[in-house]
Amino acid sequence: MIKYNFHTHSKYDDGTEALEEYVKAAIDKGMAAIGFSGHSPLPFDNEWSIASKDYPEYVAEMKRLQEKYKDHLDIYTGLELDYIPGYSDNFRAFIEGAGLDYCIGSVHLVMKPGSNDPGDIWFIDGPREGYLEGIRRIYDGDARRAVEAFYEQQREMVATQRPDIIGHLDKVNMHNNGTLFDTESEWYRSAIDRLLDTIAAHGTIVELNTRGVYTGKTSEYFPGRLMLEKCQEKNIKVMVNADAHHPSQLDQHFEEAVALLKDMGFRKMHTPFFEVTFE
Ligand SMILES: [Zn+2]
Ligand SMILES: [Zn+2]
Repeated sequence: MIKYNFHTHSKYDDGTEALEEYVKAAIDKGMAAIGFSGHSPLPFDNEWSIASKDYPEYVAEMKRLQEKYKDHLDIYTGLELDYIPGYSDNFRAFIEGAGLDYCIGSVHLVMKPGSNDPGDIWFIDGPREGYLEGIRRIYDGDARRAVEAFYEQQREMVATQRPDIIGHLDKVNMHNNGTLFDTESEWYRSAIDRLLDTIAAHGTIVELNTRGVYTGKTSEYFPGRLMLEKCQEKNIKVMVNADAHHPSQLDQHFEEAVALLKDMGFRKMHTPFFEVTFE
């Protein structure tokens, strides 16, 4: 089975090592391709994204490695772009501006619908206390409205930014564990249906992100079985990604995730550059 990973963070953002270390590890692991997807620079200070001053070096280093290792590994240059209406909503400027190969579009920060006040941004990907505090403060404790805003922001991202891949589709569930909202409810199902219909219409690839499972934070991949079944029904393209922050993570749970897709009846998986048909 061909192994690949198109979701990779390095020391330029919130990963740990130099880009070349990931290339060497991928070759050691016998992988066919990797793509770099550092968190895109954002117009405000934060702990995880590439600093604007480091961005040209990040791009140049990816391109240097692409050339240096061209006989050993297919390397693709990219970004994981945050979509935040009013703050980070011009994906093409990044991709075309630097001549990158692809991008992952992700929502980690949810802007309250109708607002552009930075105080109305809900961070879904940090510690649980901040997640709960955001629902209380921005949505008066109404988790349904918060979760609907998350899915709608992803839908708007797919329709307006056209990312090649959409990252960790249901990460809003990370802190839920069935305690804050019911993923069986009518409103939840219709929120994800609306999103998946837009994804299907645009041919965006949904990643099956294994990070929550191999770090021990969640029992299911992002997205979980509920959404994967809907992806299959709606003929949406899927791929496996590790969201690696360290070279050792490049192929974590790759085989298990592929086995799940096969088990569910998927016949192939897609990347922005090639597809893999299951035997
Ligand atoms: Zn992400
Ligand atoms: Zn990531």
